[in-house]
Amino acid sequence: MTDCIFCKIAAHELDADIVYEDDDVIAFEDMNPQTPVHTLLIPKKHYDNLSDDVDEALLGTLFGKVPLIARLKGIEESGYRIVANTGAHGRQTVYHLHIHILGGANMPISMGPAD
Ligand code: 5GP
Ligand code: ZN
Repeated sequence: MTDCIFCKIAAHELDADIVYEDDDVIAFEDMNPQTPVHTLLIPKKHYDNLSDDVDEALLGTLFGKVPLIARLKGIEESGYRIVANTGAHGRQTVYHLHIHILGGANMPISMGPAD
């Protein structure tokens, strides 16, 4: 996808603070962090989101990297939250599948009311 910002980050065409990279996935710091640690983990291959017929093996690879990213960010012991906003009601804003890895402080107990 030529006009996708996360595809551009994956292709090193757009700058990002990269935490981890291999052939299949790349993790980089969110440009607008919501928590002390806020890292995004994406597949290099473009999928809009979890509902885009994502290859299950790739999903395993992607989610399987979460503990490694948490370790690299120093939050594996203290704990963290992962979020995958999906579609309009999920308040997804960037339509390239991504997992938010959030930590470094206690997460809110409640998500707050839906609207
Ligand atoms: P979403 O709302 O789709 O779940 O999350 C998209 C996330 O991507 C947001 O937290 C936003 O701050 C982050 N983001 C959007 N554009 C860029 C960018 O160009 N670079 C980086 N590093 N993060 C971005
Ligand atoms: Zn993309």
